[in-house]
Amino acid sequence: MADHIDLLAVLGHPVGHSLSPAMHGAAITAFKLAAVYTAVDLPPEQLAQGLQAVRVLGYLGANLTIPHKERALQWLDDCSESAVRIGAVNTIIRSGDRLFGDNTDGRGWARSIREELGITLSGARACIVGAGGAARAIADALLASGAEQVVLCNRDVDRAERLALTLRRQYPKSDVRSCAPTGLRTDGIDLLVNSTPVGMYGHSEGALPIAAGLLHGSMVVSDLVYRPRRTALLSAAQCAGAVIHEGIGMLVWQGALAFEEWFGAPAPVAVMREAALRRLEPSGASAAHDPSNTTF
Ligand code: NAP
Repeated sequence: MADHIDLLAVLGHPVGHSLSPAMHGAAITAFKLAAVYTAVDLPPEQLAQGLQAVRVLGYLGANLTIPHKERALQWLDDCSESAVRIGAVNTIIRSGDRLFGDNTDGRGWARSIREELGITLSGARACIVGAGGAARAIADALLASGAEQVVLCNRDVDRAERLALTLRRQYPKSDVRSCAPTGLRTDGIDLLVNSTPVGMYGHSEGALPIAAGLLHGSMVVSDLVYRPRRTALLSAAQCAGAVIHEGIGMLVWQGALAFEEWFGAPAPVAVMREAALRRLEPSGASAAHDPSNTTF
């Protein structure tokens, strides 16, 4: 019997339906690690105490999910450059009494694209639909990987332009533009990413975030929505001859990269993916039917 057990948790509110305990639990079991990963429901007003608990109770680390990702930065001792640029942390690593914050969301998405489609993002001309937290992480991953152009398309075009301004400051040589959905042109676009909830079960399943006529066969279409796995956007993209990329890949790889930071070894990605998909199966737990409860 191990004399030490590594403690890990995802802190969120609500958190009961996070897929992270299933993914990391499966990885821990697969590698026979002496570790436990739990979900902790932590209201926003208790975030500072929750982080202090991670520190003083000697946790190996933690994941953060809605609504803690942005506010946590102020209570961490240090953060990766990408977490600072994105302005959000989803992974914490404890070292002694110091907490280090990182963000594996954008890198996880990029890694998933690379592993599943064999595509590198260098030189990409990308359009991101949406301008929220996920869009910010994806845009950062694209620009850090050498994308040639990033167009941010959002119904609130001022929000898209504010994000574009921030990105242009962070990546001075970059070509980052903003537009409203009515002004979107996709002829020169080779990668389109949906970072809105449009198309999600229980929200707007069956709806498209952009007009189907804008999809074409020379693009990769990546949908961050993973419930359903095959969204209306991905079906329409496939009909248009595009290569498609499912949202489950980002979910799995952001977790895999966190696992690698904690344990210093490659994550069992296939095992984590299978565990996430099992949780998402409609025939699985009743929780799987309620997307409003799903967190990352
Ligand atoms: P967020 O910060 O709340 O941003 C949501 C974005 O979607 C905003 O740009 C918003 O536009 C837009 N939007 C919302 N409802 C819309 C509608 N009905 N029509 C058009 N645009 C709409 O959320 P987020 O954290 O970026 O997450 C966005 C989505 O990404 C989530 O719903 C989730 O499905 C997905 N996601 C997946 C993963 C994964 O691992 N696969 C990870 C993170 C997120 P306005 O600015 O105009 O309000």
